[in-house]
Amino acid sequence: IGANLARTVAAFGDREALVDVPGGRRWTYAEFGRAVEEVALGLLAKGVAKGDRVGIWAVNCPEWVLVQYATARIGAVMVNVNPAYRVHELDYVLRQAGISLLVSSVEHRTSDYRRMVEQVRSGCPALRDVVYIDDPTWTGLVELGRRTDPARLAAREAGLRCEDPVNIQYTSGTTGFAKGATLSHRNILNNGYFVGEALGYTAEDRIALPVPFYHCFGMVMGNLAATSHGACIVVPSPLFDATAALHAVERERCTALYGVPTMFIAELALPDFATYDLSSLRTGIMAGSPCPAEVMKRVVAEMHMAEVAICYGMTETSPVSTQTGRDDDLERRTGTVGRVQPHVEVKVVDAATGEVVPRGEPGELCTRGYSVMLGYWNDPERTAEAIDGERWMHTGDLAVMDEDGFVRIVGRIKDMIIRGGENVYPREIEEFLHTHPKIADVQVVGVPDEKYGEEIMACVILRNPADTLSREELARFCRGRLAHYKVPRYVRILEAFPMTVSGKVRKVELRAVGAP
Ligand code: ATP
Ligand code: MG
Repeated sequence: IGANLARTVAAFGDREALVDVPGGRRWTYAEFGRAVEEVALGLLAKGVAKGDRVGIWAVNCPEWVLVQYATARIGAVMVNVNPAYRVHELDYVLRQAGISLLVSSVEHRTSDYRRMVEQVRSGCPALRDVVYIDDPTWTGLVELGRRTDPARLAAREAGLRCEDPVNIQYTSGTTGFAKGATLSHRNILNNGYFVGEALGYTAEDRIALPVPFYHCFGMVMGNLAATSHGACIVVPSPLFDATAALHAVERERCTALYGVPTMFIAELALPDFATYDLSSLRTGIMAGSPCPAEVMKRVVAEMHMAEVAICYGMTETSPVSTQTGRDDDLERRTGTVGRVQPHVEVKVVDAATGEVVPRGEPGELCTRGYSVMLGYWNDPERTAEAIDGERWMHTGDLAVMDEDGFVRIVGRIKDMIIRGGENVYPREIEEFLHTHPKIADVQVVGVPDEKYGEEIMACVILRNPADTLSREELARFCRGRLAHYKVPRYVRILEAFPMTVSGKVRKVELRAVGAP
């Protein structure tokens, strides 16, 4: 990663690398390269050894990006800590990953990061040092770096290999407890590069990143895709904010915008949406969870993102495994997650037998290639459950591959509803219900049922909160257009869905709420 950044700095030194919109700060690649070097030298001078874990617990800010590249340059393993975590989760990650130095935000909105760090610090003997961003400890780190001999960095870099671990990323925790995926330089740098290639990035591109850096969507598909192509990283806000995202695109003339579907839905729903000049946009990525076709159509038509890509992947695979291409028609970009990335293999198997299923039939998606993680950190058991003896990663996702190699994600094995022996895929029902004029967003889950084993419940956010939507009304809407066994038995009206910080709906919690 360090060598790749050096090449970009040499080629595009006077181009912009990083823009902090709320803070009004900007770095060219030459300045960015120097700033990374100062932080790297500061960390070296603080005694961070090769392979040491350096945690980062912060909302999106330029320092986050500096730490990402500085830790890579010194062969440390950066551990991304979710900024929504609370004290017991922080404590768990600090111990689980054995973090010796932590870089943290001071505070943001309702999160007093410093107070939480100080609360757990004495109980974590491995944690030797804490640096707070926007605090004298950060300036101290940078100044220490300035006083340190650059030859020390060159000596350290000479001993690094691309197979070395560079990053522990925790999964989103959508289905349960987050797992720490250990990723190498080879894993994530290549993945970021191929994501950028598929989007046609050049040094002309400016990428608005309202997605969290702590997640691979931000730090790999965003930051590494940008720096491996000389493109510019634009930070709209510390945490997702729909207004800030569109403001950043307009002000910085961004060519790309990222988001999970719910972020695009929020942006499109802004009352002043039509007043933003988004004409600079060309492309972007929608990923992380299924994208409703209706949303995709509006993103292409109303946000000028004619080339927007759908990506599919998971933290454990660096993350992207399949991606739509610039030339794929809208139908491919709504109905599928594209085709397999270069140098990655994909197969769809019968989860029970492990046999490859015929094209067009659903099965568990497995992937293999450079992108598969080294393993879960300090967890050989779970690693062995996920990666088989032939290095195939079993994703836990149900997928269908067509004759042309386009993949459709049908859902997670864990989310599949089995109603009276019939397999029901929530995604299909959600797609259909999205066409209902009263429905702004919808999630379909299974709830326990004595007669059928599971029954179908639709959790609905209404466009107009003053409206109502009864089960009978929904059933009438479905009649003749959806098989009877897929029609929701229950309708629950909600104001919002329980979400992970990366913007994914936690269906586990919706299921736990139960039928009305
Ligand atoms: P956890 O593993 O902790 O339960 P998670 O699986 O949500 O959380 P991530 O690694 O962030 O954690 O997400 C990967 C998952 O997201 C994939 O396994 C898949 O279920 C889903 N996903 C990613 N991209 C897409 C997409 N384009 N369409 C549908 N689902 C997607
Ligand atoms: Mg997962």
